[in-house]
Amino acid sequence: MALDVDSIRSQFPILQRTLPNGKKLVYFDNAATSQKPLAVIDAMSDFYKNYHANAHRANHTLADESTAALEGARDRISKFFGTTEGQMIYTGSATEAMNLVAYGWARYNLNEGDVVVTTEMEHHANIVPWQELSKERGIELRYVPVDTEKFTLDYDAMEVAIQGASLVCVGHVSNVLGVRNDIERVIKMAHSQGARVAIDSAQGAPHEKIFFDDLGADFLSVAAHKMAGPTGIGCLLVSEAALSEMGPFLTGGSIVKRVTLEDTLFQEGYAMFETGTPRMAEAIGWRVAVDWLEENIDFDVAHEHVQSIASWMATRMREIPGITVFGFPERKEAIGVVSFLHDTIQAQDLGYLLDAGGFAVRTGHHCAQPLMEAMGVGSTNRASVWIYNTMEEAEAFVSHLESIVSRFG
Ligand code: PMP
Repeated sequence: MALDVDSIRSQFPILQRTLPNGKKLVYFDNAATSQKPLAVIDAMSDFYKNYHANAHRANHTLADESTAALEGARDRISKFFGTTEGQMIYTGSATEAMNLVAYGWARYNLNEGDVVVTTEMEHHANIVPWQELSKERGIELRYVPVDTEKFTLDYDAMEVAIQGASLVCVGHVSNVLGVRNDIERVIKMAHSQGARVAIDSAQGAPHEKIFFDDLGADFLSVAAHKMAGPTGIGCLLVSEAALSEMGPFLTGGSIVKRVTLEDTLFQEGYAMFETGTPRMAEAIGWRVAVDWLEENIDFDVAHEHVQSIASWMATRMREIPGITVFGFPERKEAIGVVSFLHDTIQAQDLGYLLDAGGFAVRTGHHCAQPLMEAMGVGSTNRASVWIYNTMEEAEAFVSHLESIVSRFG
């Protein structure tokens, strides 16, 4: 079964856009954030127009409707990720989800000398919280290196690094290279050492169906906005065992049973972590995004579509004089990301020149400076592909890049 890309594209209004310079938009910045189908935009607008009210703790119709939508979304989204609503904590982002692991689990369970393992390949969201905790608690932080010939994690070094570790935190897919890490192996390795394991799936979940309970990770972070959902919401999926070891992170209203001037009794389970006014509109939008994905996308077929476009682009781009492509987007398991540089056209300039042709790519360190350092570069241009991109767009991109290089290279 092929993807019905025409039908998919017709449901994303922004893809019809023409830029101020008259060029048709070609959106290759999907690893930063995906675009949204009309169904998601309409659902959020419908909430604000017709039943917006603060969820929970009220006895009026709108609040009941809003609460039902918020909690119904949790049920639906958690099922989509192969788990149950009790295991899903709404967060503001994937970054906040990783901070919740650091401050809601690690801060309660780790002390001076305990070991946290992460990798050189991570987004800053899976490095900086550990550095901060390490300063606060004297936790030892170990990094698994990247093999910069093969562009994979060094799993032999990981075997050594996780000896005696309490927590192992690994990205599912690299946002810079599109490398899909062997998270199943990492989870087994970590558990064999008695360590808890956290997977940063900000880039994995948009490309691969997650079955959280079967996967066996203790924590998994997701960002809705990278998978057709709205900005401002994500979640942390947590195993029952890990959840029972967590304590409050952001404190205040909504997460309490009783507050006196002396002390506070907190709610239990996910309710202990969702402080303040819930993200109602965002949860409603995300639920519709999940419905939309299930109706329109077979994830295996989508992966083939995305991978074949990125693979074709990488192969053709390597033939352009002066262009270096990092990693191996051609690998079957690679996930739609092509990071590249030209040897004389500066990355920022190349980004502008591509934009002048209508092509939206991202330029910079992609919040992965340790990986950049391991690769010996300060930044890259990054084209990232998702379900609505086409081979025609890829061809137009490569031909525009060729003309930039022949003019300015
Ligand atoms: N991890 C990875 C691998 C990412 O690519 C990103 C987003 N660029 C994040 C975490 C953070 O996601 P968010 O900005 O939605 O918090």
